[in-house]
Amino acid sequence: MNGTDFIAHSPETKPFWDAAARGRFVLPRCRQCDRTHWYPRGICPHCLSKALDWQESPGEGEIHSFSVNRMGDQPYVLAYVALTKGPIMLTNIVDADPDTLSIGAKVKVVFKPSPEQAPVPLFVLR
Ligand SMILES: [Zn+2]
Repeated sequence: MNGTDFIAHSPETKPFWDAAARGRFVLPRCRQCDRTHWYPRGICPHCLSKALDWQESPGEGEIHSFSVNRMGDQPYVLAYVALTKGPIMLTNIVDADPDTLSIGAKVKVVFKPSPEQAPVPLFVLR
């Protein structure tokens, strides 16, 4: 399970994936209401405008909530991360001992290659 599996690869989200392929984290920002949103899509979920720009994000935030799944060979962490300058996003925390995580822990984005698609944004402790 990956916290970003639900992001469609479509013309509307191509700028996001193109940036991700270069290791850059960009978020859609609405020109109408001036808010960012997650996940990338072609219409602003706040005001339904289609006037979107892509804004580079530092990709830093903190764990808003998380859950550790220990059903498979390796435990994995599904988390909501509250970005410092942006929305709350569903993602995975990686490269960390799940037992050391806590709500409020500082995290930053990393891009990990995935077998069949562009690199996806995940988070590590900082
Ligand atoms: Zn808007």
